[in-house]
Parts: sequence; structure tokens; C-alpha cells
Amino acid sequence: MSLDKIRIVLVNTSHPGNIGAVARAMKNMGLGKLVLVEPRKFPHDEATWRAASATDVLDSAQVCATLEEAVADCGLVVGTSARGRRIPWPLLDPRHCAQRAYAEAGEHEVAFVFGREDRGLTNEELQLCHLHVNIPANEEYSSLNLAMAVQVISYELRMTHLSGELTADALAEWDQPPASTEQLQRYFEHLEETLLELGFLNPKAPKQLMTRLRRLYNRARPDDMEVNILRGILTSTQYQLKHGRSVGDVSTAAQDEV
Ligand code: SAH
Repeated sequence: MSLDKIRIVLVNTSHPGNIGAVARAMKNMGLGKLVLVEPRKFPHDEATWRAASATDVLDSAQVCATLEEAVADCGLVVGTSARGRRIPWPLLDPRHCAQRAYAEAGEHEVAFVFGREDRGLTNEELQLCHLHVNIPANEEYSSLNLAMAVQVISYELRMTHLSGELTADALAEWDQPPASTEQLQRYFEHLEETLLELGFLNPKAPKQLMTRLRRLYNRARPDDMEVNILRGILTSTQYQLKHGRSVGDVSTAAQDEV
């Protein structure tokens, strides 16, 4: 197994020097795939200078307009956060997270997402992630410099890679590939639309309903076929709402897939 399927995603980075330092941290630990979501200044001399002998990582960096785009093809997306959030999400420490990510990278693309220097990641961005990782730093000052945080995570990934212990991974035995982030996003949009049509979701007072549902599905990690089944159920529900009767075709088609 290798680290090739693991990408580091930086969201909206302000300082080009940090981007260069991230490239260096990555290359030192054997990672090569860098994705930049809306960097404020890139390419930039300071990034090149701070990358030292890792300018190849900068040269091959992919620049995206949105985080959704940056992780669309990933089966596992991990968000990094320096502090707890209002709605807790499944949380791992860097070591266990690296082991999990490394094991899954044998099967599909994996992303580690890092936030802005001043504000970190938004709640919406964190909710795109299956799980969160926190570097258990000093409670009095827990926010690391962006590149230092990438260094810690990359180091743990390297240690896992070198230890080569991971052979038994539950997902490796699975019969279906996990749903991609893009598929799950489409499912969430479809779910929200259906819940609005049903009158279950009140647009004037949505509270945390969609957040809690996202967390539930991200925790369950549905596979490809399961998401297709769930979408089939939504389509049947919408049909029933609109026409007042069920459509044999839709439900039979969904059941055929199972
Ligand atoms: N002031 C911001 C912290 C930004 S630090 C906040 O309160 O959220 C920039 C980025 O470095 C963070 O978005 C995160 O990706 C990473 N980072 C910094 N400290 C971290 C920690 N203790 N654990 C995990 N990630 C951390």
C-alpha cells in the first residue's frame, strides 16, 4: 500500500508562505497530492521559497473553486479542527485517524481538509467530512500553524505507512464501494427537497435537522448501492406525494437493484 491516494486539501489559505511550507512538510513525509481551494495568492514567490526542494508538489497542485469539487471523488473525507463545534462529529486523534485513512486508501481516494489561518473551516465545510481529527494540543493554546498541523498529520500517515501493520480492514471485505462525496451530496440535496415537500422540514425553522441527518449518514458510511436504494425511496415518496399513488415501476426498479 502507498500514500498515493491521500490528498491534502487547503481551504482559502491567506499566506502563500504557508502553502510552500505545507508542500515541504508533505514531501518530507512522502505525500505528493496537494489541492488548493480558492487560495488568496497562488502561485507566489513566497510559496516557492518556503517549499525549498518541494516545488514539484506546488507545480502539480490542483486549484479548485469549491471544497465540494476538491473532494468529489473521495470515499473518505477527514476535516481538521483546532476546537470543538456545537454539534459534535465523529472525532479521532491523529494516530488512529492516520491508521484508518491509510487502510481506506487501499480502496479509494482519501482527503484531509485544512482550514483558513484565521477562522479554520466553516461548519458547512466540516459537515462535508465523514470524520474530524483534532491534534490534542495545549488547551490554553490549541491552534497550530497551518503547515505545522499538516506536518503532524503527514507524520502520522508516514508512521502508519512504515509500520505496515494494517492488513485487516473491515472495508476491504465489503462487496460494494463506498458512496463518493459527490453521490452523498446529491443524496442530501434530494433528501432536503423531499423533506420540504413532505412538510417535515420547515424552511422557516430548519433548526439543525439537515446537519443531524448529514452526521447520521456520514457516520453510517453508506455504500454505492445503499445510496441508490435511499434515492429510490425518495423518488417513490415524491411520486406518491405528487400523484397520490405509488408507481410500481419505481419501487420495483429499486428492489431489483437489491
Ligand atoms: N483560528 C482557527 C484555527 C486555524 S489554524 C480556529 O479557531 O479554527 C489553521 C488550520 O490548521 C485549521 O483550520 C486546521 O486545519 C489546522 N489546525 C490547527 N490546529 C489544529 C489542531 N489542534 N488540530 C487539528 N487541526 C489543526
